[in-house]
Amino acid sequence: MRHLNLEYWLRPNILNMKPYSSARDEYSGADMIFLDANENPFETALNRYPDPKQGLLKEKISDLLGVHPEQLFIGNGSDEAIDLLIRASCQPSQDRVLSISPSYGMYQVCAEIQGVAFDKVLLNNDFSFNTDRIKTAIHPSHKLLFLCSPNNPTGNTISRADLVQILETFGGVVVVDEAYIDFSETAGFLELLSSFENLVLLRTFSKAWGLAGIRCGIALSNSKIISILSKIKYPYNLNTLTQKMVVEALGKPESYKNQVELIIQERELLVNELSLIDGILEVYPSQANFVLIKVKDAHQLYGLLLKEEIVVRNRSSQDLCEGCLRLTIGTPNENQKVLKTLQKLLS
Ligand SMILES: *Cc1c(COP(=O)(O)O)cnc(C)c1O
Repeated sequence: MRHLNLEYWLRPNILNMKPYSSARDEYSGADMIFLDANENPFETALNRYPDPKQGLLKEKISDLLGVHPEQLFIGNGSDEAIDLLIRASCQPSQDRVLSISPSYGMYQVCAEIQGVAFDKVLLNNDFSFNTDRIKTAIHPSHKLLFLCSPNNPTGNTISRADLVQILETFGGVVVVDEAYIDFSETAGFLELLSSFENLVLLRTFSKAWGLAGIRCGIALSNSKIISILSKIKYPYNLNTLTQKMVVEALGKPESYKNQVELIIQERELLVNELSLIDGILEVYPSQANFVLIKVKDAHQLYGLLLKEEIVVRNRSSQDLCEGCLRLTIGTPNENQKVLKTLQKLLS
């Protein structure tokens, strides 16, 4: 077991502070007269504050993932967890955050908002993770290391052996963002949580579950780290409607499963067909619900696609991504339209 010393890792003010105690922390449930939270007493579905502990939701998610409810932080998108992890551990102008590049932009944005320096380690040219380079870049001032697997925008995963090496080396907390894990043939790293106290995993309902609009993300770790995130979150960070919708979705997972299967099928089809188009120089293999392609002139193609009313993500200004566009897998109809349009524009 790799231990984490909270007194080393946390900012001292976070370690020592007492959380806000909300009225609804003390009592919940029905059949009481609630005169404790200054709510409007007249019943609508929404006149009461939501459950700050998200008890029912955590129970359902812990069933889904096979973890203890105390291992779960549920946030207003996984972006909330990214922000809270930085605020909990990084002293502004002193501690630093390490990550890979290219990757998801929010790690850097959240660090910069907090006045925390952000260092990045380049992936290899084929986008594989360069573990030696990561290990060399590690410095004692790094409190957090953000990895993303499958990585956005490159679509590849880190191997278990590489991650274990990094977990054994890094003195702070390694965060592995698994937003796209449902689309991957690899299982993700839940099983490592019992061996590494310095590991946090991020999951989200925004991608495979089709619920980007309700904002719900998950951080998974041990109860030590999770209790800190719970202590510093807004008491009512997850609204009533979001908690209800997620519980509902978890109760009928068939459409999630069918859609994920179809998206993976469409991804494989798209990768094959895109590879046959002459003007596409590279189609990168993907374990996510998007494909990254390289073309000669990404800016030009981006503009031409817009004129055809197709919006993709131009990633060509990111490290190692010159000429690259990221295409989300759409419906079968949308994918056919994209293929036809690209064939027309590039031939
Ligand atoms: C889309 C995405 C998320 C999701 O963030 P939410 O705030 O949960 O919507 C997280 N990480 C990565 C890498 C993503 O691409």
